[in-house]
Amino acid sequence: MAITVVGSIAYDTVKTPFGERERMLGGAAVHFALAASFFDDVRVVGPVGDDFGEQQLAVMSKRGVDVSDVEQITGGKTFFWHGEYGWDLNSRETLDTQLGVFEGFQPKLSERSRSSDVLFLANIQPEVQLTVREQLPDARFVALDSMNLWIDIAREALVKAIERVDCVILNDAELRQLTDKPNLISAAREVLSWSPPNGSSSARGPRVIVAKQGEYGAALITRDSFFALPAYPLETVIDPTGAGDTFAGGLVGYIAAHPQEELSDELLRRAMAHATVLASFNVEEFGTERVERLSGREIVARIGQLHAMTQFSGAPLQLRG
Ligand code: AMP
Repeated sequence: MAITVVGSIAYDTVKTPFGERERMLGGAAVHFALAASFFDDVRVVGPVGDDFGEQQLAVMSKRGVDVSDVEQITGGKTFFWHGEYGWDLNSRETLDTQLGVFEGFQPKLSERSRSSDVLFLANIQPEVQLTVREQLPDARFVALDSMNLWIDIAREALVKAIERVDCVILNDAELRQLTDKPNLISAAREVLSWSPPNGSSSARGPRVIVAKQGEYGAALITRDSFFALPAYPLETVIDPTGAGDTFAGGLVGYIAAHPQEELSDELLRRAMAHATVLASFNVEEFGTERVERLSGREIVARIGQLHAMTQFSGAPLQLRG
């Protein structure tokens, strides 16, 4: 089947303790699409400016991603993000965000992008996410990512968008900020209780919450289950930019590749493992560099290692007391 993704297509300037890159290819939709392309057909929707070249588009098309709905806006500038990481990579400061062509962007999806059965609303203005959601009312599975900036300046639109998806993927701290609840589980429960107003066309309200916890991994919360995985342990992490989007690409891609399976805990757990592994490759080098030359074989091998390191036996013991 196929996945449509809308989100930032960007130039990123990034400084980490291990080096710096200026105006490298980035953006939430790009990182997502590269990761999801290992699982299914991916169609990217979003605008770029005159400053975006064939070379950048080729990074996605080389992996089979359909870029025909990437709209080049004459006279416009591509979304730009500038970030800097602290010494242990756990903290990140945004130094500049320029929406450029995303300002006032009205996505017009081709028939092909509207026919996908899975939709990912990657990080961008919630209003843009909502417009795209409305154009795929019958999608089988819809997931959304966002960030603190949109919780700060566009919370109402973001809540409206969240009410119309099946799965919300947010950083742990963002989930607490969004709900104003200090506890992760109660924050997730709160979002799981949201549903669109009566009579709303498309959706059922979120039923899966994924809380990303950076180097500590990710947790998955549904109305009646909980699951968590640590991050794949790496000795060298170079640039965490896009890890969250790559994680989402693995998760949503894996679900998209199983159209006959219902959204069981079993399927969600396997999807979490693939998400974790994809994200671990992303952070090994700057930007999209590592994922661009990743192979399916490498992914499968790391899934095996993650499986082995997260298993333990029941080992019943007669306890004292
Ligand atoms: P992540 O590290 O997963 O949070 O994603 C970083 C990517 O998100 C970078 O490639 C940026 O271009 C993009 N990004 C940063 N800020 C924003 C924003 N406000 N809206 C959309 N995308 C953003």
